[in-house]
Amino acid sequence: MTLIAILDDRVTNRNIFSRLAASLEAGVEVRAFGDPREALAVLALHEPDLVITDFKMPHMDGADFTRHFRALPGAADIPVIVITVYEDRGFRLRALEAGATDFLQSPVDHQEFLTRARNLLKLSKHQRLIRSRALSLEHELAESEQSRAALLRDSRERLAQVIDTVPALVSATDDHGVYIFVNAHLAQFAGVDAAQVIGQDAHSTFGADYAARSQALDRLVFESGAALPAYEEEILDHSGAPHVFLTTKAPLHDAAHKVVSVLTSALDITERKQAESQLRHIAHHDPLTRLPNRLLLQQRLQRELARNRRGGRMFALHFIDLDRFKDINDVLGHQLGDQLLLAVAGRLSNTVREGDTVARLGGDEFAILQVETQETEEAAALARHAIASIAQPFGIDGQTLGVSASIGITLYPTDGTGLDELLRNADLAMYRAKAEGGGAYRFYQADMNRSARETLRLDADLRQGIAQQEFVLHFQPQVSMRTGAIVGVEALLRWQRPGIGLVKPMDFLPLAEENGLIVPINAWVLLEACRQAVAWRRAGLPPLRCAVNLSPVQFRRQDVLALVTEALAETGLDADILELELTETILMEDTEASTRTLRALRALGVSLAIDDFGTGYSSLSYVKNFPVNRLKIDQSFIRTLKSDPSDTAIVRAIIGLGHSLRLALVAEGVETMEQFTQLAAEGCDDAQGYLFGPPLTATDFEALMRQGHALPFVA
Ligand code: C2E
Ligand code: CA
Ligand code: CA
Repeated sequence: MTLIAILDDRVTNRNIFSRLAASLEAGVEVRAFGDPREALAVLALHEPDLVITDFKMPHMDGADFTRHFRALPGAADIPVIVITVYEDRGFRLRALEAGATDFLQSPVDHQEFLTRARNLLKLSKHQRLIRSRALSLEHELAESEQSRAALLRDSRERLAQVIDTVPALVSATDDHGVYIFVNAHLAQFAGVDAAQVIGQDAHSTFGADYAARSQALDRLVFESGAALPAYEEEILDHSGAPHVFLTTKAPLHDAAHKVVSVLTSALDITERKQAESQLRHIAHHDPLTRLPNRLLLQQRLQRELARNRRGGRMFALHFIDLDRFKDINDVLGHQLGDQLLLAVAGRLSNTVREGDTVARLGGDEFAILQVETQETEEAAALARHAIASIAQPFGIDGQTLGVSASIGITLYPTDGTGLDELLRNADLAMYRAKAEGGGAYRFYQADMNRSARETLRLDADLRQGIAQQEFVLHFQPQVSMRTGAIVGVEALLRWQRPGIGLVKPMDFLPLAEENGLIVPINAWVLLEACRQAVAWRRAGLPPLRCAVNLSPVQFRRQDVLALVTEALAETGLDADILELELTETILMEDTEASTRTLRALRALGVSLAIDDFGTGYSSLSYVKNFPVNRLKIDQSFIRTLKSDPSDTAIVRAIIGLGHSLRLALVAEGVETMEQFTQLAAEGCDDAQGYLFGPPLTATDFEALMRQGHALPFVA
């Protein structure tokens, strides 16, 4: 019997989660509690297989509950999922420290709930199986009358037999990464002889990449003395076929409680992953036309935004609506209507280039995300092409149907810097086209709503902001994945806009780049960051690499070398403390001048990092021509590391390529332990993200440094 405990103070949540949990497998018993104290009392008597708890509750929050629960006998390994809202970063850290296994974000996605719960349940059952078999063996042995030597021999054999029957890859490795045990299942999966790999490292079973990853994670276990949260990994079997595993690593102690080896157990979840990816496909596509739906369009757009974050390329968003489609539907019926939509989808797909996205937003609304548009005319050409191709008669079910389309176009960044704004404005432009008779396209124009005036005001306020010194820097820690220590800091710009408050760079930098104000603003950033780095050194902090973001516009309009040289001279900062974060755009422009500037900067001792790596051209060829020190893997890959297997592959490739070129790797936007362990497993050097700390004021950052470690699990 499987027992799942649900804890939530709201009765509607309790009901929903209970129903979901009950559907996990046959014969599940669900017990729901509204009060943490009551839950603890009951769970002390009935050991559950899985606990799902809310964070915010009266009397005791999710972290305190988890801590109390963990202290119950036998509860140390039982998975606990804590439900938090996204912003509650501090809560998550507290819950992690209290022993939470995993998180769900509120409002809870039902599919995600089921997947997580199912995986953790399976894992917990296997752990329990291994434990109970080992336990009964111990009992038997204790009762046995045999001599100690025979006992020991016997126990090893039997333990091996016991573990051999578990359908998981189980192994133990010592502090040199050498196998001291592998079970039969592992040997069979790898196509090796179990006896022969004992004494060798994981190279002998799954190759060099796996061995390096596994040993890096073993080191984390040796250093922290704690088990790692379960993570997913891909391992090839002896025939070369990839399997996905859910893996855990836990320390094994000797009598003196010193960690002597690491126990790795990995469960094959390949089938589940396939089912998940099918579900994901369904969730991201329109069932009728099989085109990407709004959700997927949103994700692609987000990636494109990331790609263009700083002085990048333009892209266009087309909002397409069929004219008078409702009449066709009403007169000819839904079936013909559907067939017409399907045919339209086909034609639209044929008008775009590879890399563009055609999506169905619903009803007769479609959208095209057109990437890498160099000029307005390219967007106009695509719209004309789409309109012409839809205007060709359709032969459907023996009938000839004619239909026309209206298109509204927005351009990034001129017509909006976020998805909602771009879609809203494209929709507005589409209505304009329709109002003027349909069958045509219109570009969005700022006077279609208020935003032109806002842009003017922003421009004026920015100029005043420079004069009034309204800018401040915040500082975000960068942490070494090996030691957990803070090794660097990135300076991030904020604007204290009167009457509005603290404004994030994405809300004013695109305009500042367009109107050139970025030049004086960033000159200030550089000077201020250097000044702060010197102040911290004087205050006794250890030397930290201090990273400053530069804009491609500066390289076009300013003598960056002189700027940096002056900032160093004026503040007295050692050049090797300073790191400049450049975008791929700067390197791709590859003019004589910027090449010379970058070489000269390196000669000064300043280090160079490529920011948002992976979103642009992602070609490392130019890295060979520039003396770059570091790559920062863009956060869009980290964010979906778990859910999108292709991101895991991209991240792995970036790390591998980077290391082969002797570049250090920094992962950006690391928010969860899961992402952290996965990145550590891939061999990433440093990490930056909310898991270790958000951008902080200079004072708060100094306090964090004095407090020591930023890694939540290192004691
Ligand atoms: P970036 O260089 O990629 O900086 C990282 C951004 O990610 C920062 O946003 C940071 O607050 C955010 N971030 C860090 N960790 C996490 C995390 O775990 N999760 C999430 N969701 N976000 C995280 P911020 O400060 O809003 O800066 C945005 C962008 O503005 C920067 O992206 C950079 O491109 C630009 N920027 C910031 N300061 C400057 C500057 O002084 N000069 C120039 N030219 N650009 C700047
Ligand atoms: Ca940056
Ligand atoms: Ca970045």
